[in-house]
Amino acid sequence: MLYNLGSINIDHVYRVPHLVRPGETLASRDYQRVLGGKGANQSLALARAGGRVTHWGRLGRSDAWALAPLEEAGVALGDIALVDAPSGHALIQVDDDGENAIILYPGANHGFATPTLEALIAKAEAGATLLLQNECNGLAAAMAAAKQRGLTLAFNPAPMDQAVGELPLESCDLLFVNRGEAAALAGLAETSPASALLEALAERLPEVTLVLTLGADGVHYRHQETRLRLAAHRVEAVDTTAAGDTFIGAFLAARQAGADIETCLRRASAAAALCVQAPGAAPSIPWAEAVDAALA
Ligand code: ADP
Repeated sequence: MLYNLGSINIDHVYRVPHLVRPGETLASRDYQRVLGGKGANQSLALARAGGRVTHWGRLGRSDAWALAPLEEAGVALGDIALVDAPSGHALIQVDDDGENAIILYPGANHGFATPTLEALIAKAEAGATLLLQNECNGLAAAMAAAKQRGLTLAFNPAPMDQAVGELPLESCDLLFVNRGEAAALAGLAETSPASALLEALAERLPEVTLVLTLGADGVHYRHQETRLRLAAHRVEAVDTTAAGDTFIGAFLAARQAGADIETCLRRASAAAALCVQAPGAAPSIPWAEAVDAALA
């Protein structure tokens, strides 16, 4: 089993000709209200890729409708807390080039109490994986409890902020970072060559398996002496929202199924390439059959 302690957001998605500029009032051509949040997206990506995942999250009581896609994909939702607080939500602009800009309000995602987290982790199946992103509070406590329980710890430090640097990253087994996150953690410019970012991270976190995603430039993988690179699929991106989440979910589902790392990277890249070709977050996360077809 994989447990995902993850954000659940309501995404308000606006299609705009360009990202709004300071002082500008911009009409949106389209509006949709959908399930979002890195945590929920990653659970969805995991389950649609065939993984077994239990989501641990908090959501405002009136927003339970948003869980429908997770339920349909087979995510275990028994430990979701429906609470009397505003749900986390995001205001997302998507422009004609597929670029996005996001305002995020954490709401219920930041209401975890340490004893609650510890109780959840205490009842996790032995040998399971705990997946974390940076949209919920309580990460340090969760990491400590997971390590004590002997769980495999996978972390995606997104969105990156100051607090990530203070987490015990060396206790993670697997770290998923994009270019910006890698640069921030390595203390290098975002324009640095990917190999330099990876080596700087490897020096800081020698025991951690690193997966560095590079958008249209593909992915670099590092585990001890092993280095792998995979080019991205050449596709026309219409909306890159949830590309990284889709990659992570598909990678972890393949790993859970016992696939070798190259296969995990290949399936994850194919899933993420499908994701960027469709608008939205949850609706663009592919099912295993679509990934099979893309790789056939
Ligand atoms: P994030 O969404 O976290 O910023 P990336 O931008 O690195 O993450 O994208 C994650 C993965 O999604 C990439 O490694 C790649 O496999 C895929 N991807 C992202 N953008 C594109 C693109 N324009 N074309 C093809 N694949 C893409």
